[in-house]
Amino acid sequence: MKFGVKADQDKDTGQGGGEQFIRYFGEDGAYTLRFLQPFNEWTAYWEHFSMKFRCSYPCLANEEEGISKDECPGCQLATSDDEGDQREARGNKKLLVNAIRTDDERSAGYVDLWKIPGSLREDILFNNARDKGLSKREYIIIRREKNGRTSYSLDKEDPMPIDLAMYADKLRDHNEALTKAWEYRWNPEVREAEQKRRAQAKEAHESADKAPQVHDGGDTEPPPFEKKATKKGGLSIVPEPEPEPEDEQINVTVSSIRQMSPEQLRRLYAQGGFEAPDTDDQAELAEKLISVLSS
Ligand SMILES: [Zn+2]
Repeated sequence: MKFGVKADQDKDTGQGGGEQFIRYFGEDGAYTLRFLQPFNEWTAYWEHFSMKFRCSYPCLANEEEGISKDECPGCQLATSDDEGDQREARGNKKLLVNAIRTDDERSAGYVDLWKIPGSLREDILFNNARDKGLSKREYIIIRREKNGRTSYSLDKEDPMPIDLAMYADKLRDHNEALTKAWEYRWNPEVREAEQKRRAQAKEAHESADKAPQVHDGGDTEPPPFEKKATKKGGLSIVPEPEPEPEDEQINVTVSSIRQMSPEQLRRLYAQGGFEAPDTDDQAELAEKLISVLSS
């Protein structure tokens, strides 16, 4: 099985939680990451989330390989009568990259695979173009949940270039990790063995009275939806699923667009899912955006 496509060859903007071996942004806050791979080595893929097994796994459908949605059991759950199954059938776009989290001492030095929300793709591409690669500095991913909706933004640290070649032998294989995630969902034997491994690891850590080894993953993943329900007299408010960026309606006027900085304009292009023209000329960026939005 081969999951996903090289991120730089992936054209569509996806929406925007891993499993045992892939790390993710499980809680609100800032995560400072040092990306260890150039963007053309990232993997873009669609992900399903199983409420039943509290895990996410890659979608099998792969246009490049000629595999249709009919062949992905996750996608096939769309025809189920069960609401949880229908949710599982819906995919979220993700990007996979080897990185080190540098703002958390428990992670220090560990190379992990991190999944980045697809909604940050345009921001990453923008930084990649401006910095001529991603090795010049660390980047900060900020996760915020408000009214049951989760959003992500990207910020940058001061430049501190590194030589990516230093990490070449520490990088983890994307497809191997995605295959493991897939097997955890769909192969009961693999799942049982992994659950056993996690229970033993947890016991070992507890008896050794050690801080949790976050670099090893192994926690049950929280779902990207139905996080918190407010209970009042038996009535529950269930938050909406994680937003798909395309759903966010942003209203702007022509005059406000003309007053925006190139950076603000690029953000709007990204939010609207449009490709920004390759220029820093404010007027050109503004006028093209107005024409795209008016068409
Ligand atoms: Zn699928």
